[in-house]
This record gives sequence, C-alpha cells and structure tokens, in this order.
Amino acid sequence: MYYAKETGRDSYCIYSDEMSLHNMLEVETALRRVLERDELTLHYQPKVDIHTGEIYGMEALLRWFHPTLGFVPPDVFIPLAEEIGMIGKLGEWVLHTACEQNRRWQEQGLPPLRCAVNLSVGQFQYTNLVETVRQVLLDTQLDGRWLELEVTESIIIQDTEKVIDMLLELKEFGIEISIDDFGTGYSSLRYLQRLPIDTLKIDRSFVKDIDSPEADEAAIARAVILLAHSLGLRVIAEGVETEVQLDFLRSENCDAIQGYLFSRPVPAEQFAELVRSQKRL
Ligand code: C2E
Ligand code: CA
Ligand code: CA
Ligand code: CA
Repeated sequence: MYYAKETGRDSYCIYSDEMSLHNMLEVETALRRVLERDELTLHYQPKVDIHTGEIYGMEALLRWFHPTLGFVPPDVFIPLAEEIGMIGKLGEWVLHTACEQNRRWQEQGLPPLRCAVNLSVGQFQYTNLVETVRQVLLDTQLDGRWLELEVTESIIIQDTEKVIDMLLELKEFGIEISIDDFGTGYSSLRYLQRLPIDTLKIDRSFVKDIDSPEADEAAIARAVILLAHSLGLRVIAEGVETEVQLDFLRSENCDAIQGYLFSRPVPAEQFAELVRSQKRL
C-alpha cells in the first residue's frame, strides 16, 4: 500500500510500508503502461457556493487502481510521472477526459458547470500547454468558460514571466484560473496583483484548525479572504469537514467551499446524481 504522509506546511513526503527501490521500480513500470491499460479514472468533487448553497462547479481528481499494486494515490504517482517524463501525456488525458465528460453532461441536460483541472509544473515547463488546451477544447467541443485550471504557487515561481504569458493566453479561451493550496508556497504577495487569476483556494491546512477560533489558522484564513476580496478575487476554502468550519467561513464571507462535509470526490455517475438531486449545502 502506497500513501503520502502529510508533513508540516502541506508538503508531502512519499513513503510506503516497505519502501524500497524495488517497490518504486514496480510502481514506475506500472505507471508507464497506465494509459494503454486504461487504469485511470477521474473522480469529481463538488464546489459549492456558500451563499446560495448550490453546486456551481467541481474539481477533477485522478484515481489510479492497479490490479496488483492496488490504489496508488495521486500524491505518489504524479511526482513520479513528472520525474519519468510522463506528465505531459497524463495531464493531457486528464484535460481531455474532464472536458469530454463535462460536455457530455451538458448534452444530457445537466446545468452547465465549471470543471477544474489540476496542472503540474512539468506541463508548463516541458509541454506546449496552451496548444494542448486549445486542441482539447476543439476536440471535445467544450466552451472554455466551463473549464478552470488550478495552478500552485510552485508553478508560478518557476518562471513567473513565462507562466503569466501562458495564463494570459489560456484566459483568452474564456478559462478561469485559480491558485491552489494558497498560503503554503514561497511566493511573495507582490506577484498576486500581476497574475491573471480569478480565485484563491485556501489550503486545507488552514481550514483544519479553524474550529478553535483563537488558532492562528483562523487568523490566516480570515486574512486570505480579505486579501482575495481586496484584489477583486473570489475565494474558496478546501477540505471543509465540519459545520463549525463552515459557519466560520460563512461569517467571514468566504465565497465557496469544497470538502467532505458536502461530498467526497465521487465517480462521474454519482456526481451527476448529486447535481440532479439538487443537493444543497
Ligand atoms: P489538491 O489539488 O489540493 O486536491 C485536494 C485533495 O484534498 C484531494 O486529494 C481531495 O480528495 C482531498 N480532499 C477534498 N476534500 C477533503 C476534506 O474535506 N478532507 C480531507 N482530508 N481531504 C479532502 P487527492 O484526490 O488524494 O489528491 C491529492 C493531490 O494530488 C491533489 O491535491 C493534487 O495536487 C494532486 N492531483 C490529483 N489529481 C490530479 C491531476 O489530475 N493532475 C495533477 N497535476 N495533480 C492532481
Ligand atoms: Ca487542486
Ligand atoms: Ca488544493
Ligand atoms: Ca492541499
């Protein structure tokens, strides 16, 4: 069983029960064949408007189930995919699958929703991301305004000027951009006003402990919400698990939430069911 252990500051240290070179090689060998063997799926987690209580979008999250290795979490295999030069192919598969699914839902009469896809550093560095996204939107016939891309601060600090240019091009398709895991990176606040972004995602590590209002995390969550709004950005909290967290975020005027409290990431059919049943916060 492979899993990622959360260490401080939302950084992950990858390890397994009997981590050995042999094991990692096994995972690597399996990963190289993951696409041809059709072992990947996407799960979708609703994003909910905190004021109306309605689902307005979702985040696509990769799931890999291997016949003998079992479930391998994305925290483990995505860094590996970056290392072995597979992130381009993998990322393209995610983009295509999420956009295709979203268009199919619209054809089936589901209200149009914005689907967020996570991007990796390698997709900005080593692939022609803008061209890939353009092609995917064309192939799947999805309007770009129904796609959102989640980028981390680590992507932005790699080559800030180049990334800004790429984000500007992507926004021309109507795509929205959000900063994932906000507050955990090493970025300076100065670049925020220059970035063509729409949303900040408050990292789960700050949401986790806001149950105790005197906690520093509560102060940080409050500050991120104020910062986002003063820059004209929307703000969503991830990893919301309790009513107490929800009440705090609502009272601080956070715009949206995502987390187990409302729903775990679920397979496509189950997600459609959530929307059809008009489940509300
Ligand atoms: P992330 O982008 O920060 O995604 C949120 C993670 O938090 C997901 O873990 C989700 O299942 C989990 N989560 C959501 N709500 C809650 C909650 O209320 N409580 C708790 N404890 N956890 C919650 P997951 O699916 O294991 O993904 C882990 C990371 O792997 C993601 O973190 C993202 O960085 C990466 N990842 C997943 N799918 C993709 C993908 O398609 N492409 C790329 N590049 N990265 C991906
Ligand atoms: Ca994300
Ligand atoms: Ca996140
Ligand atoms: Ca996170």
